[in-house]
Amino acid sequence: MFPIRQIVEKLCIILTIILVYENAYVFYSYLFPYWWHEQRYIQFYFHLIIGHWLLINTVFHYCIAVNTTGFVSNLKLSNEIEPETDRRFTLCKKCSLYRPPRSHHCRVCKTCVVRYDHHCPWLNNCVSYNNHYHFFLFCIYMTLISAYALYFGHYHLQMKLFNQILLRLYDPIWKPFFLVETLIPYENIIHPVAGFLIFYLFLFNLVTMLLVLSLTVWQITLISKGQTCVEEKIMKENKKQNPTVSYTNTYDLGFTKNWFQFFEIENGAELLRILFIPKIFKPKHDGTSWVKNKHI
Ligand SMILES: [Zn+2]
Ligand SMILES: [Zn+2]
Repeated sequence: MFPIRQIVEKLCIILTIILVYENAYVFYSYLFPYWWHEQRYIQFYFHLIIGHWLLINTVFHYCIAVNTTGFVSNLKLSNEIEPETDRRFTLCKKCSLYRPPRSHHCRVCKTCVVRYDHHCPWLNNCVSYNNHYHFFLFCIYMTLISAYALYFGHYHLQMKLFNQILLRLYDPIWKPFFLVETLIPYENIIHPVAGFLIFYLFLFNLVTMLLVLSLTVWQITLISKGQTCVEEKIMKENKKQNPTVSYTNTYDLGFTKNWFQFFEIENGAELLRILFIPKIFKPKHDGTSWVKNKHI
């Protein structure tokens, strides 16, 4: 079969890199020199700190999520079994591996994956126990950086180039010729083709922000329930087939415990630290034993 899916996944990665790179290009080439030259030092330092903090976190979590796998075949099993955990292994008929609970077979990676969530085209990788933390934080930071670059970039770039707001956000869609006509008189400041691409980029930021925001909200609802995407899908299918039977998620420990379990932390201060400061996730267990709610 022609690997269309692989091509789409590679394209998603390239688009993500282009988006981050282009935004950085606008800020470094136009906006930082503009704020500095105009002696707007508060704006300059504000964007220097906030912009780089968002950029570093986005790139950091993305790179780790892309490069971290969670294959069952790589598991290093520990013999310690904690109380109240589920450690029943089952045989996967597709790859013939014995896999722990919450592991599922990924059709794209062609192997079983520990606490499988979904195969993500933006990462070209599975979201699993080992990188779910980084994937989730990447979603949050990608939403924030897209909103940030859209809002500040669109406004300040025009103030720098034209000293006024000439182009609205949707003009590249509804009035592409108007966009070119507007840019031609300013040819000595910005080349019309470069300007054309930059103003399309702001729209691209909006689309990305909405897409990633919806993904983030969905992830938040799942993590709050202590459930993965695939577990939710299986539960929905089971409910459809047997509407009279009530299905419960045995890994739902309650809202707060689910979040502490997801980030593998003990208190709120630790949560604040990992939300704001980039840190590599080091799993606290081998991925085979999962705490169950003993009341369900
Ligand atoms: Zn398998
Ligand atoms: Zn996969």
